[in-house]
Amino acid sequence: MRSRLAEARKALGDRHVKLVSVEIGQNPAAAVYVRNQQRAAAEVGIEMEVQNLPLGSGQPDLLRSIDDLNRRDEVAGIIVQRPLPPGIDPRVVQSAIDPHKDVEGMHPANMGAILYREPMLPPCTAAAAQLLIQSTGLDLRGAETVVVGHSEIIGKPIAILLLHHLSTVTVCHIGTRKLVDHTRRADILVVAVGKAGLVHGDMIRPGACVIDVGINQGPDGRIVGDVDFASTVDVAGFLTPVPGGVGPVTVAMLLRNTLRAAGAAV
Ligand code: NAD
Repeated sequence: MRSRLAEARKALGDRHVKLVSVEIGQNPAAAVYVRNQQRAAAEVGIEMEVQNLPLGSGQPDLLRSIDDLNRRDEVAGIIVQRPLPPGIDPRVVQSAIDPHKDVEGMHPANMGAILYREPMLPPCTAAAAQLLIQSTGLDLRGAETVVVGHSEIIGKPIAILLLHHLSTVTVCHIGTRKLVDHTRRADILVVAVGKAGLVHGDMIRPGACVIDVGINQGPDGRIVGDVDFASTVDVAGFLTPVPGGVGPVTVAMLLRNTLRAAGAAV
């Protein structure tokens, strides 16, 4: 995907393609993401500018900065790093970004568009899950697909994108009575909850395609997903590792959206 993106970048020629990340202060959790994004952007040939507003900046300051970026022609894409400090409403902030520069695909216009079709700028993690499933060559049409997690930015858009492919989609969440009854039926299982070890190998249908979106800190400080890798790896037909699975593909989707926002057909 990155080499395809690098080709698409080249095809844009001398055009400026800039991705700007905005953050208030410098959050250590966000720093890892920003570094990964910078490295991947450089590899593809996209310039990335990082703006750190002073600690103590409020919503009006952030909105002013977004307004400025919305007006700058060379800026193709804008990312607002989370977590945002208390008192700042992420929905207000995301809605302030020009939908054509909303490369995270979280503006209500881009979110809404996925109900009708695949939007130009889809939410990155959902697009990554879809791409990973498609890369297996499995036929989504009629497949029993179970999505665990129903958040606005992950679970719901994943379910809708897979529905477009005529998958039979079940969405599970905190209110689901017996999770295992659903997961065991799944040809394709996407887990996006944020609970380490929520899904074990004995909850999975042999040969299933398992996409682990979760990012959690394990007991020994290491990053782990929502799926217990050791008990699942020999049962599943496909399994994405954490780290190194959905995460890097999500970054690739962010860069794809940036190139699309700059006018590339990719
Ligand atoms: P969220 O907290 O907004 O949503 C969690 C979802 O899990 C909710 O729908 C909730 O109903 C459901 N849930 C909670 N407990 C459950 C249980 N016991 N059984 C079934 N469902 C349960 O979280 P989110 O923002 O959607 O993020 C989910 C995970 O994805 C987190 O670990 C987050 O760090 C990770 N994430 C990964 C990427 C990536 O690129 N890989 C990007 C963003 C977030």
